[in-house]
Amino acid sequence: MRTSVIGAVTAGVFGFAIGTMVSGPHPHIALAESAAAPAEQPAAQTPPPDDGKPRIIFFGAHPDDAEYQGAGVAMKWAKLGYHVKLVSVSNGDIGHWQMAGGPLAIRRKNEVLAVDKRLGVATEVLDIHDGEIMPTLENRRTITRLIREWNADVVITCRPNDYHPDHRYTSILVQDSAYMVGVPFFTPSVPSLKRNPVFLYAPDRFQRPNPFRADVAVGIDDVMDPTLDALLLMESQIQEGGADGNASLYPADAAGRARRTVECRANLERRYAGIANRYRETLTKFYGAERAAQIKHAQAFEVCEYGRQPSQEELKRMFPF
Ligand SMILES: [Zn+2]
Repeated sequence: MRTSVIGAVTAGVFGFAIGTMVSGPHPHIALAESAAAPAEQPAAQTPPPDDGKPRIIFFGAHPDDAEYQGAGVAMKWAKLGYHVKLVSVSNGDIGHWQMAGGPLAIRRKNEVLAVDKRLGVATEVLDIHDGEIMPTLENRRTITRLIREWNADVVITCRPNDYHPDHRYTSILVQDSAYMVGVPFFTPSVPSLKRNPVFLYAPDRFQRPNPFRADVAVGIDDVMDPTLDALLLMESQIQEGGADGNASLYPADAAGRARRTVECRANLERRYAGIANRYRETLTKFYGAERAAQIKHAQAFEVCEYGRQPSQEELKRMFPF
């Protein structure tokens, strides 16, 4: 698979429930936007400068998954000058109840470009059809190259027991690359990494074979508003409901649309509030009891057993908030 013909879009779903929680379809805008030329891709393929700042790469399956995973923490890292990139492994071209194919892929790419610009991060969308991600050797090479090109210190993706096959195989592809990124003669056109990155999982609610374990939790109250404003730019997925939407979700009139957007914003906010409440104990480890008790919105990550195993001190340095 080629790298990002479709460009850059990111977005995310974390876990299941996005369909139900953020649903809402909509016709009109779609057509106007989808006819538009793809937005210019930022310099996503250019490796970040070697300035000593950490480099983080997120892999989501669809143009919205890495955005949900990254959201506030990506913006916080970007503000510190860290180099953050959000990758969608598929082009998202069946992720809508009403439209599909090239026009949807372009529309979603433009949506994630807009979100990621607000977050201050780079974007890339791979040209693999939505619903068709497979853990192939070719895809393993592509993911390995992307991690190497970003010279990543941290790699983040979903867990391999997610409900969606694209999510599962994205996770497997990242896992399969976790060792190979350091093997010099595997896909040698891009130099191997001298230091194995730390691999992290984003949270989900699946319990089998094992539930998500929060090794790190980050408060994101300080960036919650701009993060929600950014995420809500993904109208095809949020207000219109993506593949699970329908025509009634996002009405044509301005008042109806405003109402729907407010509702979606509250749903998103609840999601990050839920993470803060579920992983309060982990927040306490990082912030101390007093500060942790004040945190309303958070993101959490689990350390994958593959890749470098960071000490608690290293985790604190990675998330210096
Ligand atoms: Zn997804």
